[in-house]
Amino acid sequence: MPSAARLTRPSVLTALVASSLGAVLAAQTVITPPKNKYTPQQDVELGREAAAEVRREYPIISDEQITGYLERAGRSLVAASPSNLNNPAFEYSFTPVNLKEINAFALPGGPMFVNRGMFDAAQSEGEVVGVMAHELSHVLLRHGTANATKAQNFQIGAVAGAIAGAIIGGGWGEAISQGSQFGLGAWLMKYSRDYEKQADLLGAQIMARAGYDPRDLARMFEAIERESKGNTPPQWLSSHPNPGNRVQYINQEAAKLQIGQRSTGNGFATAKSRFSSLPAATSMADVGKGRGGGGGGSGRETASIGTVGQPVPAPSSQYKTARGGQLFQVSVPSNWTGVSDETAVKFVPQNALGAYQGQSVFTHGVELGVARAASRSLDESTDAFVNALLRGNPGMRVSDSQRAVRISQRAGIATALVGRSALNQTERVGVYTTLLANGSLFYYLTVVPDNDAQTYAATFDRVGNSIRLNDR
Ligand SMILES: [Zn+2]
Repeated sequence: MPSAARLTRPSVLTALVASSLGAVLAAQTVITPPKNKYTPQQDVELGREAAAEVRREYPIISDEQITGYLERAGRSLVAASPSNLNNPAFEYSFTPVNLKEINAFALPGGPMFVNRGMFDAAQSEGEVVGVMAHELSHVLLRHGTANATKAQNFQIGAVAGAIAGAIIGGGWGEAISQGSQFGLGAWLMKYSRDYEKQADLLGAQIMARAGYDPRDLARMFEAIERESKGNTPPQWLSSHPNPGNRVQYINQEAAKLQIGQRSTGNGFATAKSRFSSLPAATSMADVGKGRGGGGGGSGRETASIGTVGQPVPAPSSQYKTARGGQLFQVSVPSNWTGVSDETAVKFVPQNALGAYQGQSVFTHGVELGVARAASRSLDESTDAFVNALLRGNPGMRVSDSQRAVRISQRAGIATALVGRSALNQTERVGVYTTLLANGSLFYYLTVVPDNDAQTYAATFDRVGNSIRLNDR
């Protein structure tokens, strides 16, 4: 026997042993969690607080067949997660929501919510489970607090409410309740394209181990992308942007993975059939209205400063410094009051904010906040933001051509709008927008009745010029 044969034989054996999980499969992609200066316990506390708020505001489904199915599917994914990422501090929960939007989200530390709309859009169980595996991967990789780590001076304790607010909506008119506009918390819950790819690949690995074909995740993304060509892009895409070639790289990863044994049984069909016994799914717009953000005026969140309809005092010439979380600071007249509704911050004079004839009214003052950017272009994102405002405020229109401005030393766009207020006055609204380092849109809105526009012009300029963004 030639000596060469004796030498090669053991090495072949070694190779076979090493690849015993799949002799011809290439190694799966190794996913490393990004840098994070927070503890897993802080993830848990943040998510727990935000989840409580979500449960108060959302139409939670309690049907046992549906909750039972979701719980079993979720637990099987957790069981299939890499043990080095599955921190014992995490508190997982899997909650179905009676909302028609195609959406699912997971909060730091484990709470996950899946909309009925996601079930309706799915052709197979694997498609729903795939999105859950993707969401679970954000939890395991701790992407929310990794975002916070990237942000300068971000104070984690202050943002749980903001995260809930970002998810739930509420704030300035219908634009917010339609989910087109997100608050300061969305800054944390919006994942970068790098993080998206990580969650796609880890999600594919986890679902394969739990007995599902990762190609189903790719199919679900195709369905979501198809929806996004319509008038109302799925909410899901606003916090989970497509990193590009999503379907291809998931399918490539799938080819490296062996699909394990499934343990969830066939509860999916039963769960899906139970939806027809529930009340009709509501929409995010309804959730927003319940909070008084859409003019319903019945929500407990309707803030008021004085009595709308009474005289509004002129802006003081004295200024005070205020902060919007850790994202920005701004100087405002000292006789204005800050009202933070978890998604944005308004500064308003006496009698300029509150309920009036059953509507939530904001007559004088400014609002600063963060919105989802429609694209990486400031022009396009501004147009989408302005259009959402116009849709939410019937009768409002653009009154002048847009101007280039500077906001906190970066390029911005000013758009002038005019509309009719609930007090039947001509209302002037200024919209100032710029892009943040993470790709979100920062906005500064000014609101004043036409009669008072002269008095407020210099004030609005001074407030606008004082804005300092701290995102980079
Ligand atoms: Zn994602």
